[in-house]
Amino acid sequence: MPASIARAMTKTDTLAALRDRIAHAESIARRDRGATTLIAVSKTHDAAAIQPLIDAGQRVFGENRVQEAQAKWPALMDATPGIELHLVGQLQSNKAEDAVRLFDAIHSVDRPSLVAALAKAVEKVGRAPACFIQVDIGEEPQKGGCAISDLPALLAEAQAAGLPIAGLMCVPPAGLDAAPYFALTARLARDHGLSGLSMGMSDDFETAVTLGATHVRVGSALFGARG
Ligand SMILES: *Cc1c(COP(=O)(O)O)cnc(C)c1O
Repeated sequence: MPASIARAMTKTDTLAALRDRIAHAESIARRDRGATTLIAVSKTHDAAAIQPLIDAGQRVFGENRVQEAQAKWPALMDATPGIELHLVGQLQSNKAEDAVRLFDAIHSVDRPSLVAALAKAVEKVGRAPACFIQVDIGEEPQKGGCAISDLPALLAEAQAAGLPIAGLMCVPPAGLDAAPYFALTARLARDHGLSGLSMGMSDDFETAVTLGATHVRVGSALFGARG
């Protein structure tokens, strides 16, 4: 068997196992099967590493840098219709227009200047990605995210600017139990009437699913460790 086929089968198995783990967490939490969208975070991985996952049926992908996504995804998306691309990393305001053109969802809306830049880009480009407000849930400003105390004002500003706000996103502190942070993010979303919850990565996505994640962002568990 050629090595390329062996690799493709492995990716199919990896994806199926991951989907089973998500489904199991959904059933523990008495959530509907399929309530969670798996975002395959393909940052740092090239088209050759991504294509086997597309072949295995994965359609929702995440990237953390606009330029890297621009280099990789247009060709992959041309080849396979129906791919949905999510920006999960921090976004500079001067890249807002590029992001609006390429991405179907942006998970890192975290400040008034970015809300303004995105609203302007949405009007110019004529398409509006689903937006998640990133909350600095562990008080780690270097990771991006708005302070919890700034959330009500930022949310109001984003809604007034016409951005479609899907929900909240968080990245809990590394090395700590993520569950309390996921629970707090879920409570903040509920308090603000938001249904979307982008939380959970390779090490903690099952916990996130049991606490209500609607989108998990999984990279290394699908692609292997990043070099
Ligand atoms: C890289 C990244 C992920 C995926 O992380 P893994 O631990 O590889 O699953 C999820 N969310 C964000 C914001 C990321 O930058």
